Amino acid sequence: MSSIRHYIRDLRVIDGHEHLATRQMRERDRTDLFGLLHYLDSDMITAGMQRGSLSARGTDAEEKAAIFMKYWERTKNTAYAKVFRTAMEDLYGMRDWTVRGLLELNEKVIAASLDKDWYRKVMTERSRIDLAFTLIQTTNVDFAMFRPIMFMDFAFKLRTLKDVQAVEGASGVEANTLQQYLTAVDALLNKYIQEGMVATKLGHAYWRTLACGKPTFHEAETVFNRLAACSLEEGLSQAETRPLQDYLIHFIIQRSTAYGVPIQIHTGHHETSVSGNGNTITNSQVSSLLPLLNEYSSSRFVLLHCGYPYSLEYLSIAKNFPNVYTDFTWIYAISPTAAKHILHQMIEMVPQTKIHGFGGDYNFIEGTYGHLKLAKKIVGDVLTEKVEDGALDEDEAIGFAKAVFRNNLIDFYGLDEKPV
Ligand SMILES: [Zn+2]
Repeated sequence: MSSIRHYIRDLRVIDGHEHLATRQMRERDRTDLFGLLHYLDSDMITAGMQRGSLSARGTDAEEKAAIFMKYWERTKNTAYAKVFRTAMEDLYGMRDWTVRGLLELNEKVIAASLDKDWYRKVMTERSRIDLAFTLIQTTNVDFAMFRPIMFMDFAFKLRTLKDVQAVEGASGVEANTLQQYLTAVDALLNKYIQEGMVATKLGHAYWRTLACGKPTFHEAETVFNRLAACSLEEGLSQAETRPLQDYLIHFIIQRSTAYGVPIQIHTGHHETSVSGNGNTITNSQVSSLLPLLNEYSSSRFVLLHCGYPYSLEYLSIAKNFPNVYTDFTWIYAISPTAAKHILHQMIEMVPQTKIHGFGGDYNFIEGTYGHLKLAKKIVGDVLTEKVEDGALDEDEAIGFAKAVFRNNLIDFYGLDEKPV
């Protein structure tokens, strides 16, 4: 192994984006093997499996194992499947990819879910992750291993009076006017930050376009008042509420910036297991964000997932906008080859302090482990190629790895962790 790959293998990481349940949640749910499929489930659905087949409550483990094997044969070539295989083989010693082997593995996974030390073993020891950001819509996480990031979509995806009431409930502020509603959203942001939130997250590319207009207060207020006059059974359409949504997106960016927290925004590919909407990929075109990026020059935007498949415009935007930071969350597992190409170009184009190298984007720690192993391999391969090419010397390559896997995140999010 080259010294670069060796160094990267041992490097302790700050993980910029996960959806990991707390250990207590996992223990309470007694999560089994079929609760760990996540991205692989998406590929199996695309390969013809009925959505929900492996999470159905009535189906027993043996039936699920048989369904799994049918679709494993169809999907085992993909990077999602490779990450899953790596995790199961490394962490559970899985070798026997048959119904019988899966049933044995299932028992081991359930035992791990009940093991109070499992998170420390997988995250801290095996994955060498010192801290991970997790998005599970609570700030009540184990701060020894995690920091919370909160989706703010629910504060601007307002279609019914119930949606307004949810924000009133979460913030403790009654909102009968738009002005009062803004006070409620601000109180919510402030509360989350007091509770340890390190960034806000906008995931709206999953349900509407990233393009955002600049409606006036009055235009937003007109929609809010129509919504306030609805009965609980009524609602307004997506098109009707768009001015209110756009106004609130601006407001959340403004208030996040005032509080000094960065804004993570989903760009590019959608997950079918999340979206279920046929992957309206054009909703997440990176260049749709340009008006917001231009307007908020003192905000700090983290654009997630390298914008894939809009990666070329992503690179161009990241190169030119001081307020844009790149983030490799999820991309290695979508396509290792794409990740490799993007990283090669990014090293050539984007200042290295603007690059965040890893977020597993998994909802179980085994996936994070498998994804990080893949990410480290790709980054090691790319840096070795850059050195062979004469584009970087070995010290520069190691410095780059330290920056993107660890030091940049400590600096950017103001973490109390030691840089290396
Ligand atoms: Zn995510």
